[in-house]
Amino acid sequence: MNKVIDLTLEAAFVKNYSKGYPLISGEALKNTSKVKTEGTLVDLVDNSGKFIAKGYYGRQNKGYGWVLTQNRSEKIDVDFFRKKIKNAIAYRDDFFKSKETTAFRVLNGEGDGIGGLTIDYFDGYYLLTWYSIGIYTFKDDILEALKSSMDYKGIYQKKRFDAKGQYLDDTDDFITGEKAPEPLIVKENGANFAVYLDDGAMVGVFLDQREVRKTIRDQYAKGKTMLNTFSYTGAFSVFAALGGAKKTTSVDLANRSRAKTQEQFRINSINVDAQDIIVEDVFNYFKYAVRKKLSFDLVVLDPPSFARSKKHTFSAAKDYTKLLKEAIQITSKGGVIVASTNASNFDMKRFKGFIDKAFKALHGKYSIEETFSLPKDFRVSEKFKEGNYLKVVFIRKIT
Ligand code: SAH
Repeated sequence: MNKVIDLTLEAAFVKNYSKGYPLISGEALKNTSKVKTEGTLVDLVDNSGKFIAKGYYGRQNKGYGWVLTQNRSEKIDVDFFRKKIKNAIAYRDDFFKSKETTAFRVLNGEGDGIGGLTIDYFDGYYLLTWYSIGIYTFKDDILEALKSSMDYKGIYQKKRFDAKGQYLDDTDDFITGEKAPEPLIVKENGANFAVYLDDGAMVGVFLDQREVRKTIRDQYAKGKTMLNTFSYTGAFSVFAALGGAKKTTSVDLANRSRAKTQEQFRINSINVDAQDIIVEDVFNYFKYAVRKKLSFDLVVLDPPSFARSKKHTFSAAKDYTKLLKEAIQITSKGGVIVASTNASNFDMKRFKGFIDKAFKALHGKYSIEETFSLPKDFRVSEKFKEGNYLKVVFIRKIT
């Protein structure tokens, strides 16, 4: 890893990298075949060989790696990573001090200067997610940097190495310290979540939706009937119930979702029997709901960017309008649809276009009540705005 390889930038891209663009993309490079070993340090240079930026080679769906510094003499070592981690921790000082919220993101990839790595905090436990073999080659330095920056109970990891960012289940996710209880109960704005740090790809809660959940609980749930589609562990349903929803209905295809959702209700002292939890394809459920003339005051749509079930393939970019059309039909007049997507291949403007198209097709009227993107702890680089993948729109159905 000592040898640094020069990679020449296409002329049109030099300015962008000089200004601090962090993603090393294939199209910006003259010759990508010069580097083959994951984790190799690379100097991006212009046509005349002038240094522009230093980064590492690590293939992931997003590109060839990430820039780490624009300072040629800066070493990529324990001190380098410690500096980044300490900065990241200082930026989340209010989260570390909070008694109401004990689960949040500590380091958000390129937003905190280390593309390809995220670190989440769960009440004293740290979870590192590696997005390429390249960044994983720095594991020892990064772990040492983390351990010397913070007190910790235990440290876990997830490997998402392949091009699609799929979870790689080859080893134990536990790295060091003491093991977390299973479940580990963390807090979010006063509510409880059960998380499992060593139980496959997902731990039970998506931290980036924190503000959306709070808004549902505090402003939209009281006295309402709620339908939560693609509900996973029912996090949105829990917040709606805590906010005084009349009843919640959670729909998810995965068998595990029933027990997981019941658990989340129970640890928040919500009467499980008063809620509906349905294990079914959302698209079938919509058909059933239309047939039965059901309607809901609050409908949450939070599909994966891409999903394949037995009967349907869903791609957010292609099919969100269709999904909205289904949802609009079973939302009561004056009701609210919370439309969410984490798809990074379209922006908020296009997302609002999907919403408009869906209402127009049904000759309906709507108003947009509020929108959300990533919360503060999911820090986004000024130089890489596309890192802000989350788009959530609260839509009121007028007619
Ligand atoms: N809204 C959830 C996160 C959703 S994750 C939360 O806030 O925690 C995506 C979920 O969609 C997964 O649990 C997956 O099982 C489910 N899913 C994917 N395709 C589906 C389909 N066609 N019908 C129902 N659920 C589906």
